[in-house]
Amino acid sequence: MAGLIPEKVIEKVRSNVNIVDVISQYVSLEKKGKDYIGLCPFHQEKTPSFTVNEDKQFFKCFGCGKGGNVFKFLMYKDNLTFPESVKQVAEFAHIKLSGNFTKPKVSNTMTLMFQDATEFYHHVLLTTNAGRRGLRYARERKMSDEILEHFQIGYAPKQDNLLLTFLRGRNYKDDDLFRSGLFVESKDGRLFDRFRDRLMFPLGNESGYVIGFSGRRISNDKTVAKYINSPETKLFNKSKVLFNFSEAKKAAKQEGHLVLYEGYMDVISAYKAGVKSGIASMGTSLTDQQIYMLKRVTKNIIINYDGDEPGVHAEERATKMFQKAGGFNIGVVVLPDGLDPDEYVKKYGTEKYQDEVKGAFTTTDFFLKRLAKKYNLNNDREKIVYLDEAVKVIAKLTNPVEQDLYIDKIAKAQGVSKASLKANLIKQQRRERTANRHKGSNYDNSLPTPELQDLTPPTPTDAPEDEKGDRDPVQTRLLYLFIHSTHAKNYLLKKKFLFPDKDYAKLAELWLKFSESHENPEINSFLDFIPEELQGIIVSAEMADMPDDFTENEIDEQISALHMRKINSKLDELKNQLNDARRKTDTEEIIKITQKILNLKRIQGKKEAF
Ligand SMILES: [Zn+2]
Repeated sequence: MAGLIPEKVIEKVRSNVNIVDVISQYVSLEKKGKDYIGLCPFHQEKTPSFTVNEDKQFFKCFGCGKGGNVFKFLMYKDNLTFPESVKQVAEFAHIKLSGNFTKPKVSNTMTLMFQDATEFYHHVLLTTNAGRRGLRYARERKMSDEILEHFQIGYAPKQDNLLLTFLRGRNYKDDDLFRSGLFVESKDGRLFDRFRDRLMFPLGNESGYVIGFSGRRISNDKTVAKYINSPETKLFNKSKVLFNFSEAKKAAKQEGHLVLYEGYMDVISAYKAGVKSGIASMGTSLTDQQIYMLKRVTKNIIINYDGDEPGVHAEERATKMFQKAGGFNIGVVVLPDGLDPDEYVKKYGTEKYQDEVKGAFTTTDFFLKRLAKKYNLNNDREKIVYLDEAVKVIAKLTNPVEQDLYIDKIAKAQGVSKASLKANLIKQQRRERTANRHKGSNYDNSLPTPELQDLTPPTPTDAPEDEKGDRDPVQTRLLYLFIHSTHAKNYLLKKKFLFPDKDYAKLAELWLKFSESHENPEINSFLDFIPEELQGIIVSAEMADMPDDFTENEIDEQISALHMRKINSKLDELKNQLNDARRKTDTEEIIKITQKILNLKRIQGKKEAF
């Protein structure tokens, strides 16, 4: 499996990183006991079952079953080969790999092609005559060199098929070019550049590899679309892409939150204003998958859409989606005078903008303010309706201190007594409890929903992938002892014990080979040298937190449990045969099988007595 990279090097890379640090780039981990837990990046879940064990340097998801060491994590996450993963971990640990085993960062044709296309567009924009139009436009939009560099912005020239010629020159095959979505095919099967005369924004996946583009029209020709996105491909799934996500994740560690914007230009303006944790969905409304991606990184999300009515309305919708998902701490920024972030920064400057982000409303504040706008509060009749509705919003809160805070605020603002609002609140809460009881499990999540509360049942997950280790605790325990204790190993060998399951038997055999050829055989290195399909058993055993001490008596008991299991399954088989024989009234066969059954029962009885 390790391929061309010397084992010594792999070992060096591994021992220089902490798996917790590597995985933290993708998943927000929380320390629970001796483990770290977080939301699984490989399947969607509501409560964290993704576990990282720092001592053992292993991860395992108890929901979907994926597990392994630090190399395996990146292989799953970024679809890398083993050497690619070692290379990436080495980069993370600032270890220079020398020698010819260092393959390019990515061997995936499509990823390489997008990297080349990104560089091409970027190069055209900054250094060519053909790119001048684009550069002029970028300058008009106040994009500095630093911005163009940071976001790798480029320009797709007006002339036809420059990208096509460039990529063919790099020996990409037409099939791959077509699959990339960067080209359109004419009726007679010829390829043409899809993007022309557009400012190009590369769209990256979670790890920052470019997987698609969004091209902004720079001409005034309103007959063509303002934005064109790459079509959906195997790599590029719009509902799972967030502009600037891989960079924003890093910034979120310092800034303490992610800021969600409506478009790329907002993310870029915010970046100029020093807010580097900005992201944007792809010109469509937010999807559940995107919300899940965010949840894995941080629970603190600030939403900052345009300050005009459609923008605020969209903010309301997004806020409700986050509430429905549960577990978020949402802040909402509403910029004055209907400004979008770009306009705001131009008008009021960067510092003021940062203050707006810091002073984001809580969702309750936001909803109460929205509500107040719907009524004429100078009219007593409308004011009463408003106060009733406001109490409904507050009644959804689960924290009594929070409730008190908003009751107080509203009482003061509207000149009514706090006591009367409180009385209404209690009535409303009683009403809701009754309603929920009647609705039972079909609790209606129509909004505003209770804040930070998770009422929906967990989504059923796919069956664990490699649950063998979890399913067969006896063999797992014996294998664990076989690997971790020379005493146990020798004892089992002396007893000529064979693992009944072929996967376990194979692992025992591989461990013998591995430990004979290594001075300090380590379980983590062992994992890289065994076939993929056997790794799950090892990871499960390691993550099961088994005691290292044992007695020979324990081993005997485990072995005898395996024997019993074998006898039982043999008995079941014989009973089936017996039924068949009876149906056919085959007397000779009936006697033969009964004899066998009795023999087995005798052995079983002895064992049980023992
Ligand atoms: Zn999982």
